Amino acid sequence: MTEEPEAGKSLDPQDWAELRAAGHRMLDDMFDFIQHVRERPVWRPIPPEVRAHFRTPLPQASQPLETVYKEFSEFILPYTAGNVHPAFMGWVHGGGTPVGMLAEMLSAGINANLGGRDHVPVEVERQLVEWAREMFKFPAGASGLFVTGTSLANFIAVLVARAQALGPEVRRTGVGGDGTLLRAYTSRAAHRCIPLAVDLAGFGTDSLRLIPTDHRHRIDLTALREAIENDRRDGLRPFLVIGTAGTVDTGAVDPIDDLANLCSDQGMRLHIDGAFGALAVLSPALAPLVKGLERADSIAFDFHKWAQVPYDAGFLLVRDGNLHRRTFATPAAYLRPDARGIAAGAPWFSDYGPDLSRGFRALKTWFTLKTFGVERIGSVLAHTCELARYLERKVLVERRLELLAPAQLNIVCFRFAADDSVNSQIVVDLHEAGIVAPSTTIIDGKLAIRAAFVNHRTQKCDVDALVSGVVQFGERLTV
Ligand SMILES: *Cc1c(COP(=O)(O)O)cnc(C)c1O
Repeated sequence: MTEEPEAGKSLDPQDWAELRAAGHRMLDDMFDFIQHVRERPVWRPIPPEVRAHFRTPLPQASQPLETVYKEFSEFILPYTAGNVHPAFMGWVHGGGTPVGMLAEMLSAGINANLGGRDHVPVEVERQLVEWAREMFKFPAGASGLFVTGTSLANFIAVLVARAQALGPEVRRTGVGGDGTLLRAYTSRAAHRCIPLAVDLAGFGTDSLRLIPTDHRHRIDLTALREAIENDRRDGLRPFLVIGTAGTVDTGAVDPIDDLANLCSDQGMRLHIDGAFGALAVLSPALAPLVKGLERADSIAFDFHKWAQVPYDAGFLLVRDGNLHRRTFATPAAYLRPDARGIAAGAPWFSDYGPDLSRGFRALKTWFTLKTFGVERIGSVLAHTCELARYLERKVLVERRLELLAPAQLNIVCFRFAADDSVNSQIVVDLHEAGIVAPSTTIIDGKLAIRAAFVNHRTQKCDVDALVSGVVQFGERLTV
């Protein structure tokens, strides 16, 4: 058997010029994809043969990059969810930017592992922690880290609260004894990842009290106080309030200052799920809406939603960095930090969360914040809220439409004056026509068409297309 040349063992190309040309072409294609996004449908149904294309056996042999890229262009690129498109206003999805895309390419090239060790990528993430601290006016000593998204950030925040209530020994003993007495509180409008976080932390979802909301979908403070008093009377231990800055259904912001007062009176922790809404601090026009955030014990939010950083870039900021670290730090011989060399630079990000290997999410966020500056990002946020108010005005004057939840931030819930099934049909028809992509939710028992303006590319003409599409499709379905 003849030995292959050493170069053949590596996965790097033998012909770099060829790879370089292919790479430049891909980059140009992606610039075209973003530049001309408005010319395409926002979404298109996936033909069965396209889906079937992804049911093939494990590839054994090599094939040219060109071939694989052709498959990507034909079978993947045209069938994405559409959140890059300006007419995408479903759920709460970020639009991304070409700057973020380039940064992703650079970080893939570096292939950094941000779990720990002494390298500047870690310093970039530390820089982002400092910027987040500055954004939310958190004190020195606050800690933070990137995670996949707010779902995970909320989970980590509950673990930090657990370590405070039961001491870090809870990591050894588990939530038994006193732990079964702990109670957490959030509103009925909280995201579904909150009960999940409480479940994953070992408390069980029964230990989470879902408090009713007021007419603006914010947590009802009187009901919250009563629930806490009742639980204390029953010998239970209220320990955590989870408020929301920008609920996923309506964009409602809980009264954060009042929650902070209540928590400090009651000796409870305050965590805020600010997945998108927390970033309102970046806009002078919106910041007053989230006043009090600076008093929270921790804040979870996403750079991948309103701040337009490409997926994924969730973040958790914790006021007490020591407590945060004691919640996770675990000695392991093979991870022992040194004073010098590559293994220096402790504490490491793996001491602040469950992940050891971690990607360089900080780089695309660093590029985004530096390239645009927070002023420009803040004005994007304010613009999406103006679009919501513009839609609200149009809904109010259009006789066939009903407003179901007012625009509090960037979300409007409304419907065509007909039953739930007509409204859900309208939304699906709009998706399939590729015109505009709202989503649905239930508001006060009624199915609502929900428009969440997150994408920085969305303009008034997209709102006009939504309104005329809903009316036209609705009339067609109700003649
Ligand atoms: C999107 C969202 C979440 C979940 O965040 P992910 O980044 O998707 O994990 C949690 N809470 C609210 C209010 C959200 O809008």
